[in-house]
Amino acid sequence: MNESDAKIRIIKLREEINRHNYLYHVLDAPEISDAALDSLKNELEALERSFPALVSADSPTQRVNGQALAKFEKVEHRRPMLSIYDAFSEQDLRDWQDRLLKLLSPSERSQLCYFAEMKMDGLAMSLIYKQGLFVQAATRGDGAVGENVTGNLKTLDSIPLRLRLPTEAELLQLGLTKAQSANCRELITNGEIEVRGEAVINHADFAALNEAYAKAGKATLANPRNAAAGSIRQLDPSITRERRLQFYAYDIITDFGLEYHHQEHQLAALLGFKILKHNQVCPKLEDLIKFHHHYQDHKSEVGFDCDGMVAVVDRLSLWPTLGVIGKGPRYLLAYKFAAEQATTVVRSVDWQVGRTGALTPRAVLDPVAIGGVTVSHSTLHNYDEIKRLGLKIGDTVIIERAGDVIPKVIEVLVNLRSGQEKTITPPKHCPVCGSDIDQSADEVALRCVNKDCYATNIRRLMHWASKNAADIDGLGPKIIEQLYAAGLVKDPADFYSLSKNDLLELEGFADRAADNLLEAIARRRSLALSKFIYALGIRHIGEETAITISHYFSLAQQKSKATALNLEGFVTWISGLDLETIQQWEDVGPIVAESVYEYFHDQSSIKLLNKLQTAKLELIISQSKGSGKLSGLSFVLTGTLSALGRDEAKAKLRELGADISESVSKNTSYLVAGEKAGSKLTKAKDLGVKIITEDELIKLLS
Ligand SMILES: [Zn+2]
Repeated sequence: MNESDAKIRIIKLREEINRHNYLYHVLDAPEISDAALDSLKNELEALERSFPALVSADSPTQRVNGQALAKFEKVEHRRPMLSIYDAFSEQDLRDWQDRLLKLLSPSERSQLCYFAEMKMDGLAMSLIYKQGLFVQAATRGDGAVGENVTGNLKTLDSIPLRLRLPTEAELLQLGLTKAQSANCRELITNGEIEVRGEAVINHADFAALNEAYAKAGKATLANPRNAAAGSIRQLDPSITRERRLQFYAYDIITDFGLEYHHQEHQLAALLGFKILKHNQVCPKLEDLIKFHHHYQDHKSEVGFDCDGMVAVVDRLSLWPTLGVIGKGPRYLLAYKFAAEQATTVVRSVDWQVGRTGALTPRAVLDPVAIGGVTVSHSTLHNYDEIKRLGLKIGDTVIIERAGDVIPKVIEVLVNLRSGQEKTITPPKHCPVCGSDIDQSADEVALRCVNKDCYATNIRRLMHWASKNAADIDGLGPKIIEQLYAAGLVKDPADFYSLSKNDLLELEGFADRAADNLLEAIARRRSLALSKFIYALGIRHIGEETAITISHYFSLAQQKSKATALNLEGFVTWISGLDLETIQQWEDVGPIVAESVYEYFHDQSSIKLLNKLQTAKLELIISQSKGSGKLSGLSFVLTGTLSALGRDEAKAKLRELGADISESVSKNTSYLVAGEKAGSKLTKAKDLGVKIITEDELIKLLS
């Protein structure tokens, strides 16, 4: 990016960040997630680092967030409430320790150990007690000046109005000397004490609150953090009370002579405050990392929002040496949990051709870290999704990646548009092979009409090798593309004629790898019929339908022993069926039936099926379904089956080998008539089909 583009972007980012900061910190009504806002701030910071001349004093990067609301009395903090620097990776944490070690003397280095705290995502508060009595509560504000919210905080049950006075024995056990204990008790009784902590709302309380608000027709609250902030920073203490805030102490500012920070937490508990039980002393950096990784996955156990951990240098005597740099101290570091949202820019959209020829748009993104990985692509599903999002090329977007799910674009930030964005149009020709694109009226998907399209072929090969199809270990996308590019594999049948020499000629293929792959392919030379059908990648045929088709083949084979129980027999059978017969199969609609029929009459599929026979692919055809006591019998169910239910009845019949049909014909063995049976019952009577009740069916099944 050149300087003039950067300038435009920086101005846009500042406006948008200021707008969201105001929504977030002042109105407590955010429009986007914290993670998305952080992401915008990170981009601004990075741009300002690259173009230092463009940094201005009023940039949102230049100050601690938050400002005191005019409606509250302002309170100057006795000691500034500092920010905490963020770390996003293990490496950031290690770099931090390296910096600490450089600042410490050899004897101090040996004292370096840590305390891991959950980073509560609530509102930071400073509480002042005089002569043991609660006299003032203040928000952080800008770090130097906060808002006096004493009246509101007095409604919180978790804030003691009078400090508990610890016994001498308790203080000695905490590690204080006799003299220090006496001094501590004297300060609590007659002096001034400052305790800091976080006000939060539990998930359970938040949910209950929103439910009550919704019932009362009131606007619901955006998230617990803003609900907490909003309830503290308004003028009616009764609202604060109804929101059931919790206060957890994490720091005692007053010096009692304690050696370790974790002891300050213990002292806070002795004074009558709640502390977080999850926090943990960590002798080594590795223990901090373990703590972080554990709670990354278990943060919901805490019961309220936590967005990371705070690594604290536990030994208090090291704090003055390490000191403060800029807006935050060196002895603290917030190691954030991987966020599930981030903002980035869509650079282009490419269209990928799937195994059925369907074209899927994919956004090409400026790489961005999200959920612990760097993401540079995101699925857009189909052209309708692009229209729904209003997405243009060049747009800044919020992307989300939850768990292992493919990242997706969830929102376009239209305020960040520069006017240079380009409309996305669907391709008229296949981006891979240049063939025409077909968009059938009833389908959202665009499709390449060329059956030999390169990408289509690759996807078809990948589908063949995939877990639920032929399940060939080690045949990943890279190897398949290599084999295809080398001309060794054009269709799935070619996998079965690969030789070791073929593989050894490929780049990066060692002896062992070649043997392993050939073994894996050999293991799958025999394949369950349903997996084989699914592996063919026939449009609209998922695993379930493949099972249905294989079931009908077993039935047909039992009726006519002439049908061979192998690949040839299967192909002969299915290509001899007419469309009407296929349509009568259970769970097979007209679209699926047509797709099956077309596939087995298509020249290129016939060629492939022949090749697979030549390759000596063996099919495992289960007969279990057809060998039961009801095999050869055909059932039609009609009306309501109140005891069994229709699905269970069908499953049991099939288990015993029965054939189930949707319509009554003279080949029907039994009509099962439930309550309110209609036209099928009449037809069965006309044709003289045997009619049984549900009770009789149950007897038959037992
Ligand atoms: Zn194509």
